[in-house]
Amino acid sequence: MINIAIDGPAGAGKSTIAKAVAKKLGLIYLDTGAMYRSVAYFVLKKGVSVSDEEGVGRVLKELEMDIRYEDGAQQIYVCGENATPYLREPHMSKAASDVSALPVVRYKMVELQREFAKTHDVVLDGRDIGTFVLPDANCKIFMTASPEERAQRRFKELAEKGVECTFEEVLADINKRDYNDSHRAVAPLKKAEDAVELDTTHLTADEVAEKVESIVKEKIK
Ligand code: C5P
Repeated sequence: MINIAIDGPAGAGKSTIAKAVAKKLGLIYLDTGAMYRSVAYFVLKKGVSVSDEEGVGRVLKELEMDIRYEDGAQQIYVCGENATPYLREPHMSKAASDVSALPVVRYKMVELQREFAKTHDVVLDGRDIGTFVLPDANCKIFMTASPEERAQRRFKELAEKGVECTFEEVLADINKRDYNDSHRAVAPLKKAEDAVELDTTHLTADEVAEKVESIVKEKIK
C-alpha cells in the first residue's frame, strides 16, 4: 500500500494540498482532523465536557465511526448520522483540539487510521501521522507557515463562509491550538526526523501542490 503522511500545524494548508495531490495521483484522501472533530461533535451532543476524560471514555464506547466517500468527498457518519456539515464550525476546532489530547481518544482514532492505511493507498493529513500513526509511511511531509499567514488564510476562509469573527480572534485560536497540539503528552505535533519540511508562507496553493507532488513522486518512484 502507498501511505503518504502530511503533518503540520492548523492552517498550514495541509488539507487543500493533500486533497489535490491525492486526486492527481489517484489516491484516497483521509482527513484525520475531521475524525477528531467528529469525536468532539459526538461528545458535545451527548452533553459531556470535552475535558472530562472519564465521561469522554464512557461515550466513546458507544461511538461508531464510519468513513465514507460520496462523490469523491469524505463524509464521517457517527452512529448513523452524517456529522460532516457540523465539523468546520469554529467552536468545533477548539473542542477537537481539547478532545484529541485525551489518550483514550487518540488510541481509538490511531487504531482506525492504521487499519485504513493498511487497506488503502492513501494520503493522510494530521499532526502525528509521520511520527506516531504511520512511522513507516512511504513519504512524509511537514508543512508549516507563520502563525500570521495561517490566521490570514483561515480568516479569509471563514469570511467567505459568512462566519463573523475578527482577525485577532482567529490568530489567538491558531496560537492556542498550536500550543495545545504541540504540548500534549501523547503524540504531540512534531516534525518526524525523516519528513521533508515545507514552509508555505510565501507560496501559492498551486506552488505548494506542485512541490508536494514532486516530493511524493521522488519518494515513491
Ligand atoms: O486538522 P484540523 O484542524 O481539522 O484538526 C482539528 C484538531 O484535531 C487539531 O487542532 C488537533 O488538535 C487534532 N488533530 C490531532 N491529530 C491529528 C489530526 C488532528 O490531534 N492527526
